[in-house]
Amino acid sequence: MSRSDVDVVVVGAGFAGLYLLHELRENGFSSRVLETGDDVGGTWYWNRYPGARCDISTTDYQFTWDPELHDEWSWSEKHATQPEILRYAQHVARKHDLYSGIDFETRVVGAVWSDESRKWTITTSKGENITCRHYVMATGCLSMPKEPDIPGTDRYKGPVYVTGRWPHDGVDFTGQRVAVIGTGSSAIQSIPLIAEQAAELVVFQRTPNFSVPAHNGPQPADRVARLREDRGAYEAEARLSTSGVPIQPSTTSALAVAPDTAREMLETAWQRGELLALGATFMDVGISRPANEVVSDFIRSKIASIVKDPKTAELLSPRGYPFGTKRPCMDTNYYQTFNLPHVRLVDLNTDPIRSITETGIDFGSESREFDAIVYATGFDAMTGAIVAVDIEGRDGMTLKKKWANGPLTYLGLTSVGFPNLFMITGPGSPSVLSNMMVSIEQHVEWIRDTLVSMREEGFETIEPTPRAEEGWRAHCEDCASITLFQDTNSWYMGANVPGKPRVLFPYIGGVGRYRKICDEVTARGFLGFELTGSVATRCNDGVVREIQPDVESVLEMMATLGLPPIEAMSPVEARAFSEASSAVRPPGPAVGEMIDGSLPGEAGPLEYRLYRPASGGPHPVVVYFHGGGWVFGSHVSDDPLCRDLCVQADVAIVSVNYRHAPEDRFPAAALDGYAALRWVAANAASLGFDPARIAVAGWSAGGNVAAVAAQMARDNGGPELRGQLLLTPVTDGSRQHQSHTDNADGYILTKSLMEWFWNHYADPADRSNPLASPLLAPDLSGLPPAMVVTAQYDPLRDEGDAYAEALSAAGVHVEHLRAKGHTHTSITMVDMLPSSVPPRRAMASALRRFFG
Ligand SMILES: Cc1cc2nc3c(=O)[nH]c(=O)nc-3n(C[C@H](O)[C@H](O)[C@H](O)COP(=O)(O)OP(=O)(O)OC[C@H]3O[C@@H](n4cnc5c(N)ncnc54)[C@H](O)[C@@H]3O)c2cc1C
Repeated sequence: MSRSDVDVVVVGAGFAGLYLLHELRENGFSSRVLETGDDVGGTWYWNRYPGARCDISTTDYQFTWDPELHDEWSWSEKHATQPEILRYAQHVARKHDLYSGIDFETRVVGAVWSDESRKWTITTSKGENITCRHYVMATGCLSMPKEPDIPGTDRYKGPVYVTGRWPHDGVDFTGQRVAVIGTGSSAIQSIPLIAEQAAELVVFQRTPNFSVPAHNGPQPADRVARLREDRGAYEAEARLSTSGVPIQPSTTSALAVAPDTAREMLETAWQRGELLALGATFMDVGISRPANEVVSDFIRSKIASIVKDPKTAELLSPRGYPFGTKRPCMDTNYYQTFNLPHVRLVDLNTDPIRSITETGIDFGSESREFDAIVYATGFDAMTGAIVAVDIEGRDGMTLKKKWANGPLTYLGLTSVGFPNLFMITGPGSPSVLSNMMVSIEQHVEWIRDTLVSMREEGFETIEPTPRAEEGWRAHCEDCASITLFQDTNSWYMGANVPGKPRVLFPYIGGVGRYRKICDEVTARGFLGFELTGSVATRCNDGVVREIQPDVESVLEMMATLGLPPIEAMSPVEARAFSEASSAVRPPGPAVGEMIDGSLPGEAGPLEYRLYRPASGGPHPVVVYFHGGGWVFGSHVSDDPLCRDLCVQADVAIVSVNYRHAPEDRFPAAALDGYAALRWVAANAASLGFDPARIAVAGWSAGGNVAAVAAQMARDNGGPELRGQLLLTPVTDGSRQHQSHTDNADGYILTKSLMEWFWNHYADPADRSNPLASPLLAPDLSGLPPAMVVTAQYDPLRDEGDAYAEALSAAGVHVEHLRAKGHTHTSITMVDMLPSSVPPRRAMASALRRFFG
């Protein structure tokens, strides 16, 4: 084998590079691993500052691919120190003869792709050029220390230490005056130990971080027992978990328990000494600000109880950003350190550093001399080490330039324009939001399997398609947008590096979901990739995930319940089932007033519920019709949605029941709907509504009733309507639209359930009547302005779209919202699905616009 032309060049000999080298060799690929440092270990080679440890428990932060390691290696502590983890990496490298495959003290400086040879040429700091078919950046997410952006750093004459590049033979601070700049994870780990030696320690803090105690010690007995019992199951659970650690996700909202109970639960988590325990106590810490405050308040109260000086305690207390949206830290005596008389905290917000000087630091109104300065100023995370190499892909495009406005990748593994380039734990993959060992192993195995499969099928290049990459970007954004992360200036968001684009760099959809997606990409013939070879080319273009992540979670959860299909029930059973499901929903926001009453329908009284806003009236009024396929539901069955619309749009809602099938078949519902509308209009003033501002609204079959009522009002002399809001409406009884096939199953409302509804509601001959199928009305002109909301994963999608288009073609003003990634039911799930908030907000805005 020529050393200057290999199958794969791997950059980096941390855990990722080591495992990849092993797998490449096992599968017969020639390779070179190039590493800047002079030993293996990556993170654990460079970060030798005092107190450096992993903060994911070492039962979880270790390789699983070599089962022998579990017997050969035992960790001395729950959170092992850097020297121990480094020894572990060295042990693995020695055991598997990996040292022989690594070029140390060799930095990769450039890489150029050639379309002609279908190879990369890699240039090293030693001036060597190596050609390779595949090029893997295993360069680490936290391997590029960030240059401190502080004036005067080059003036200081004394020793300067950077936590991420700590001297190998250690530093003795005994008797010294030491400054530590930064209070991120490395600082929080090292400050207590530096304080033990230093005569004087001044800590410069810009933003306080949340830190939880490690309570380090032996491995927890319950964890050891679980591993002994069934290691395989434990590891499988980790791989499919949210963060790569097998923690049972909570199903309790922080807002649903009494404050004392919440405190007790958090105290238990605090005592566990696990990085993820506090955040995992409640289901909504990452998505709801009020829920997050419960945890944040708890930690602040802990800080206040530990730190004796109230002013210092307050300075150390994070405020203004949610817990978990900056990487939480783990410490041993961090907060206690500030009780020592020789330790001082400086708040850079009130006393900024004016300049580093020859002998110390000028800050605020002071000038202090120091014997040593420690920079714990963090990393250019996720992309820093990748774009530090001049990577030139197809047509001379560099990755740095392509990513100027934010990294674009497919799966965080690959990028358009850079064939055969792979990144391990790259931006757009779970990476730093996970137990990295789990993520590293998954990436290495995916790359390995991909290379093997390409070789078997005779393909030489693999490159994602622009559509797949854009789809992945959108999916990452969908995942991020339902969390609290985007509001915080964190290194997750690139905010710590001036000029870095502001996006959430890691994928926040969870390790388990991510793994399933990668597996699905492979199983679907490398969906979203183009593969080329001398014999064949294959492009399987597509987007792997468009469904909203929280909607997907609900569907997954429902799938585990094994619920019987509604269409297998009798109408009576279906009604009972629907009522039982409604009973366990969050109630929705409080409204000013709710009044139940009855009004005259076409053939007898109909119940209604009036929702009135807290603001002063008279309010415009929306006559609302519930969903339930004309078979079940009632005037109160869409209660959370009605409350939400009432509050958000500041309108009165009258939710009306109507007669149900099969007892009362077509056109009972339609006639009741119109009768109710007439009654509300006639009584508007006496009910406290503005009689000149009336609209109709409805969801699903209720959307059908609303659309029909609007047509009847036009054709029968009123009332005059200001608008119609139709949420995923039924508009066409023919059910011939493609979405009935595309979304036939798996999204709650199924094709067969829709058929069941129609069979109960209307004879086939009646279904083309416009009072059953408003889309089939011969004339749609003269109808009130409409907002039509359709959902991507709804069997009714296309008939809703068709109605919006037909209305528009007839000259009706239409706002048409195609809710991406939503199902027939998801938009109604108030206080359950964050992704359903924007569509409902748009619906409320439409109501406001209807009423001027
Ligand atoms: C202080 C600290 C504590 C951490 N604690 C945890 C934890 O508790 N749990 C957790 O999951 N993760 C933790 N991490 C994240 C940690 O980085 C990963 O867990 C893991 O070690 C990354 O392994 P890696 O092989 O992907 O990258 P790294 O270990 O970063 O290795 C990358 C290697 O690539 C080399 N390299 C980079 N660029 C080049 C180049 N151009 N040419 C040649 N070589 C290059 C670097 O020298 C480095 O050795 C921690 C990180 C830090 C900094």
